[in-house]
Amino acid sequence: MTVLDSMLSFNEKFVEGKEYESLQTSKFPDKKIVILTCMDTRLIELLPRALNLKNGDAKIVKNAGAIVTDPYDSIMRSIIVALYALKADEVAVIGHYGCGMTGLTSDDIFSQAESRGADTERLQEAAYAGVDLDKWMRGFNDVEENVKSSAQIIRNHPLLPEGTPVHGLAISPDTGELTVIEKASASQ
Ligand SMILES: [Zn+2]
Repeated sequence: MTVLDSMLSFNEKFVEGKEYESLQTSKFPDKKIVILTCMDTRLIELLPRALNLKNGDAKIVKNAGAIVTDPYDSIMRSIIVALYALKADEVAVIGHYGCGMTGLTSDDIFSQAESRGADTERLQEAAYAGVDLDKWMRGFNDVEENVKSSAQIIRNHPLLPEGTPVHGLAISPDTGELTVIEKASASQ
């Protein structure tokens, strides 16, 4: 039995029992905020609960490390869409201490990929096409620096609506305590 099989059988009961009813809301975030955070498993429930976010309150964009690598990557696109199409008007980047992206290098991943039978020769095609593979797969050394760098890319984006506050924070994956790294004012 795969994990998916157990999810599918749970899902049948979930829908039959109308357990969705208490969760129904719209696609527009009630608190008008978009949050970029990490995909870390410890944050799945902890982050929303520690921030008092209920279903429907916020747009939450996740990736490994809460990293904006490039102003034209898919994370930045999601943030821009949240601000225009979904009516958010505030942005928070929330990294976390003890992140798996701390100290990660492209070599860590690429050498494992080779030993697991991935066709790493084909990476050359991406390199020829101009992809900076090392930058693409790199983590960071310091979570607070990464939050600042991601927030800065968002702040400098040509499509960011004027005056949009962009905050930078870090959360403890154990207690949910937030550390404010950069707090923007409403009229920034
Ligand atoms: Zn993380």
